[in-house]
Amino acid sequence: AHRKDPPMQEPTWDVTSSEEYGVRQSFQCWPSSRIEATRCVAPLGCLYTPLKEVSANYMPQVALQYEPIRCVGNQCRAVLNPYCQVDFMSKLWTCPFCLTRNHFPPHYAENISETNLPAELIPQYGTCEYELPINPHDPYQQQQQGGAAPAFLFVVDTCVHAEELAELADSIQQVLNLLPEEALVGLITYGTNVNVHEVGFEGCSKSFILRGDKEYETSRVAELLGISRGNQFVPPQQQQQNGGANPAAQQPALHLPSAVGKFLLPVSECSFVLENMLEDLQKDPWPVPSDKRTARCTGVALSVAMGLLDSAIPRRGGRVMLFTGGPCTSGPGAIVSRLKTEDMRSHTDLAQNKAPLHAAACEYYAKLAGRATGIDPNPKNKKSQQNQLQQQLQSGACHVVDIFACSLDQVGMLEMKTLVEATGGLMVLGDSFGQSVFKESFKRVFRRWPSEKPGDGDSLMMGFAASMEVMTSREFKVSGAIGPCSSLHKMSPNVSDLEVGKGGTNAWSLGGIDPNTTIAVYFDVANTTSNNNNPNKRRFLQFLTRYQHMNGRTRVRSTTLCGPWHSDPNDVTPIRASFDQEAAAILTARLAVHRTETEDVGDVLMWVDRSLIRLAAKFADYRPDDPSSFRLPHAFSIYPQFMFHLRRSPFLQLFNSSPDEASYYRYILSRENTSNSLVMIQPTLLSYSFNGPPQPTLLDSQSVRPDTILLLDTFFHVVVFHGETIAAWREMKYHEQEEHASFRQLLEAPQDDAQLIMDSRFPVPRYIVCDQHKSEARFLMAKLNPSVTHHTGEGGGGAQVFTDDVSLRVFMEHLMKLSVQS
Ligand SMILES: [Zn+2]
Repeated sequence: AHRKDPPMQEPTWDVTSSEEYGVRQSFQCWPSSRIEATRCVAPLGCLYTPLKEVSANYMPQVALQYEPIRCVGNQCRAVLNPYCQVDFMSKLWTCPFCLTRNHFPPHYAENISETNLPAELIPQYGTCEYELPINPHDPYQQQQQGGAAPAFLFVVDTCVHAEELAELADSIQQVLNLLPEEALVGLITYGTNVNVHEVGFEGCSKSFILRGDKEYETSRVAELLGISRGNQFVPPQQQQQNGGANPAAQQPALHLPSAVGKFLLPVSECSFVLENMLEDLQKDPWPVPSDKRTARCTGVALSVAMGLLDSAIPRRGGRVMLFTGGPCTSGPGAIVSRLKTEDMRSHTDLAQNKAPLHAAACEYYAKLAGRATGIDPNPKNKKSQQNQLQQQLQSGACHVVDIFACSLDQVGMLEMKTLVEATGGLMVLGDSFGQSVFKESFKRVFRRWPSEKPGDGDSLMMGFAASMEVMTSREFKVSGAIGPCSSLHKMSPNVSDLEVGKGGTNAWSLGGIDPNTTIAVYFDVANTTSNNNNPNKRRFLQFLTRYQHMNGRTRVRSTTLCGPWHSDPNDVTPIRASFDQEAAAILTARLAVHRTETEDVGDVLMWVDRSLIRLAAKFADYRPDDPSSFRLPHAFSIYPQFMFHLRRSPFLQLFNSSPDEASYYRYILSRENTSNSLVMIQPTLLSYSFNGPPQPTLLDSQSVRPDTILLLDTFFHVVVFHGETIAAWREMKYHEQEEHASFRQLLEAPQDDAQLIMDSRFPVPRYIVCDQHKSEARFLMAKLNPSVTHHTGEGGGGAQVFTDDVSLRVFMEHLMKLSVQS
């Protein structure tokens, strides 16, 4: 690649480009002292989407086929990027993070000039992806040279109704056709016991039965199934002690068959056998007394599935895909007893410590999460930390746990969430395996990149064993992260003692990732005074994401950003103008949701309110004690509205959802990108009428009109709502009459638009078509701002919402009054 200008002469700071790289920041321009940063109220942070598809303008489209060049500075290891100052004469580059001067490696030094730059120094390439060469000393990597498609282990609950089981079997059969031919597949069914099916055995159906009442460690699973354990990861130093050989390989030959070939087979070799097995799936045969719940050992089934993958393919990507239709009632991980006289835990039970099995179940799934990620939650000494980190960054969390729960009852999403979150798994919650919420979502897990995409074409849109490190320039530090990630306990000089979310580290294990996975990272300004920054000084930020690509190779993606400091505490203008209210709202929402894990929801709501008032007091224009003079600057104009809806959202209000639903909603919010998260907090509403094209309309009961159709998108639900006149005309079948073609078009337009939304989303939303005054209309009415309630008693237009919530108008009045108080 050739380019005339050397980089770093005039570092470009560009808001749009940071979004192109998959980064949204609450502020672009940062106050240069800690005290001023605190006064800005909204968190200093960003939302980063590591696998975002970056356009050719901002990233080389084919992964660079070499190791990234890293800074040799003490504890730095930042990757060469366009913000490095390059001295072409002496062939040196200066790291913007630690200011160390580094020599270029010889092959760079030979060729580099102002007109011949390597891709990673080209100014607009803020993101570069590297495909690492195969390590010749790593027997595992040698093995994988021919490609290593991941494994999919289906774990099926057989305690569900026969029709549900048939729907589920049908979906899994369909998905087999979506997998790459060489992908490994396997089947576990469970109920009272766990059955591990031999997909490699043609003839009659053959399976191993494990009791459903106790946890199985990986070694025990291997022993019981009579399989060998695959290559274990051995840290390099240990390899040296063993003279370079892999001790696992040196173990006395046990002559045990590998699980691959017996319980896991490439889909191309076993789809016939597996399809027959699925066809013949039987409901759990054990009798269930009428006063008891069915025995369902979900927790044990998960431990067996994880043990099987760990034994068979310890360093190759894989997914344990759990399909369950009810609560775990037996063995470790049970959330409710089998006695029907004992009720499932409710929010009240949990708040009052009256959920006897809850704590033990949480502990059990957290332990499984530790097994999956290999992360010791309380590393005792520095050395074990370092080894663990090494291990993590190289091979950790290869196996993802996904949960597809379809049940009218709760299944234990709340307790199992830690396991899904730690492994970067997916959650889908529906009522039935026959619903499109499940069927379509499940298929969408296997979406592929378009075939014309260089390097990735036709491969599944997923990565495994991901980890992320964050580099910062010296003036600020990393406080923590919130999202589907686990701390790697990596201490570094840029780790702040002020912890936010998962803090005390600058590296996290993410496990499975896809192009939507988004992590919120929070920062802390280190400078205690504001005048020690010269005005030209800039801040630098680098994300390094390492993951296993579908081709089995390790990739590293580096995204580097630069932003300005602002050091005059008496002038907030540049900071104010750089506010990204959408990103700030989501960073705040994630913080609020994270707080609900340890704090009372009422306290969290108060924190949201107080933060908003302080933010408005800081950045709005007003005369003290004069609410009528209050004006919000443009960059903040809809932020209060986001907070209003956040307060009312299912993320902070529990009265309309079960503990499982609440944890499900919160999990999805914590992994989605900014625009999807905004829809979750503030649903969108479109109004369709005869008076022209559809109009975005206020999320307000005033928008309900007899002669309009509304299309509501809450992310989880898509609702088409017919006003009563429209519904009556439809009942009279006007749309079937030739002279009312325009009415037919009016009826069809919102349905077509709803379909577009549903086609693009994961999980697939529940689709509801309803009429004004009918019971399903509640899905719309519950989301509307109660501008007209039975308290206000206003007549005229609009429909009444029966609630004691304050309206947006009242909320804004309070905000103005409280913000201007001197
Ligand atoms: Zn450095």
